[in-house]
Amino acid sequence: MGVILADVSFAIDGVSILEDVSAVIPAGTVTGLLGPNGAGKSTLLRLIAGLQTPDAGTVRLGGTVVASLPRREAARRIALLEQSAAPSVDLSVLEVVLLGRIPHRSRVLGSFGGDEDRRVAEHSLAMVGAEGLTDRQWHTLSGGQQQRVQIARALAQSPSLLLLDEPTNHLDVSAQLSLLGQVRRLGLTSVMALHDLNLAAAYCDQILLLHHGRLVASGTPEEVLRPSVIADVYGVDCDIIAHPRGGHPVIVFSPSDAPEAGA
Ligand code: ADP
Ligand code: MG
Repeated sequence: MGVILADVSFAIDGVSILEDVSAVIPAGTVTGLLGPNGAGKSTLLRLIAGLQTPDAGTVRLGGTVVASLPRREAARRIALLEQSAAPSVDLSVLEVVLLGRIPHRSRVLGSFGGDEDRRVAEHSLAMVGAEGLTDRQWHTLSGGQQQRVQIARALAQSPSLLLLDEPTNHLDVSAQLSLLGQVRRLGLTSVMALHDLNLAAAYCDQILLLHHGRLVASGTPEEVLRPSVIADVYGVDCDIIAHPRGGHPVIVFSPSDAPEAGA
């Protein structure tokens, strides 16, 4: 399902965190949410997830205002993987993924973890290439494996919308590429906050760039990731070249104190 943000504003204790954010996120696309630390990325993801309600404006998912959905209904439709979402108690991988089934648990029967839930959990692990990890203990996994299992937990919710907050943090380059490749192959409407502009350029259909709580640019990676925009928002000097194989933009940063070539 697609998402429409219409003039979304949000403040905490009178301090504006997001102001007049409007964007269209088409169904089935992968959107990268970019911006410096403190730009409002995590806050916007929480508003889209319905965990917080905008002070003004609306977030719609498939035409329905998210803030009007009962909590449980929102949890069935929207999965949010927050920035450091590690379970604190020791569980097996299967148990972690089964946590994603809680919003689908029958109110009447009250139970979950039956055959159907187990089937969905195993399918979710397979979707992220983690089927071999089912019986492992969570705390024995590598960072990349834990991140895949967290995404499997989100998928076990069978969401229409997948929200990921900095999913590639602390992963090595191979784990970053394979995780983002998996997200693309899911074919779900996905929004992810990312720090790495080059990963966003390579894996996202669309980019929303936030700066001080305002949407300063949106569009394809080619449209948004321009040297002048990056200089304004991040205060760094860069060149953009076309990827030698994919053709997508590659951002090449110039350290401010680097000597000019040939100087
Ligand atoms: P990002 O994820 O882009 O780094 P956040 O959405 O976490 O940004 O934060 C945006 C701004 O809102 C920051 O200035 C942050 O300090 C502020 N903020 C976030 N949560 C709270 C809170 N609970 N109380 C006060 N300020 C907050
Ligand atoms: Mg954040």
